[in-house]
Amino acid sequence: TVPGAAVRLADLPLRPELRGEEPYGAPQLDVPHRLNVNENPYPPSAAVLADLAEAVTGAGAGLNRYPDREAWALRTDLARYLGHDLGAENVWAANGSNEVMTHLLQAFGGPGRTVLSFTPTYSMYPEYARNTYTRYVTSPRRDDFTLDVATTERAVAEHQPDVVLITTPNNPTGTPTGLDVVRAALAATSGVVVVDEAYQEFARTGTPSALTLLAHHPRLVVSRTMSKAFALAGGRLGYLAAAPAVVDACRIVRLPYHLSATSQAVARVALAHADELLSQVDALRTERDLLVDWLRARGLAVADSDANFVLFGGLPDRRAVWEGLLARGVLIRETGPAGWLRVSAGTPLEMAAFRTALSEVAETQG
Ligand code: PMP
Repeated sequence: TVPGAAVRLADLPLRPELRGEEPYGAPQLDVPHRLNVNENPYPPSAAVLADLAEAVTGAGAGLNRYPDREAWALRTDLARYLGHDLGAENVWAANGSNEVMTHLLQAFGGPGRTVLSFTPTYSMYPEYARNTYTRYVTSPRRDDFTLDVATTERAVAEHQPDVVLITTPNNPTGTPTGLDVVRAALAATSGVVVVDEAYQEFARTGTPSALTLLAHHPRLVVSRTMSKAFALAGGRLGYLAAAPAVVDACRIVRLPYHLSATSQAVARVALAHADELLSQVDALRTERDLLVDWLRARGLAVADSDANFVLFGGLPDRRAVWEGLLARGVLIRETGPAGWLRVSAGTPLEMAAFRTALSEVAETQG
């Protein structure tokens, strides 16, 4: 055994609120069809790979030096991608949007402060809050998982949060939230309103982005990620758009040189190939919509989805369904309210495998 193996976590002088906690993580299982963490199923094309190799070699030549602490070139590219007259000063980037969110809570949350979110929602939020010593409070969404102005105003009035977290499209439900709700939250609080748009590129036509509100709302933050639409989950690159002062707040709390030279170079290659990568988003939206229709035709409850996943319910024993799918090589996610499961949109082949497996499972369960 390795040194120290006899010492258990409970024997250590751990922070009390970490006692009994488990590291976050969906199972990473080696099965044929992985549809459990909303990844993009399309690996980089040969053209992207060639540019990646060149960019990583270029970054490698300077790896004896620390990277650009401000990631200025990357932030310039990200601002150009987002449009809306944004400049590099409006953009902050970090290792996944989970680090972006941590920076925001380090800067605007903290001891004695509160962050509010609307459940069911992303399971990592309470962990960001815990890690930054921020109190985490929630308010339930409506039965159809939507969030309305009245609920938002009531929750803000009740909890007086310092940070309001609105996830649109929401995870795990896929539900979009109208900008009227974002405006209402901004009007109701003197705190910061963070709109987590991790899945915004997958939105159905007509679902607007909160980016359109930035020009008039200095306490608004729009968070994005390259993990989903840009098929760059392994590259770990999240970012936000906000007033330059919000970016300055993040710059105060970030670790120096937090974003490696290779991360910056890799993300810039993906952005240079945005057109190609976003064309795959269209294919995924199509698969998602077909999946929603198919599940509904089977009589299941299905949440409208603007994301690259679908939450479906009406399952008396969701655990048995999840296990039955896994036994057939299809890994999805046991998350959301009781009786619901979440499946990511994949390639047409993966979706066919999911449909076949679910049909078989339904037969065995009568
Ligand atoms: N926000 C939401 C709503 C998510 O679902 C996820 C990833 N599952 C993230 C943020 C974090 O993504 P990443 O750290 O990969 O950018």
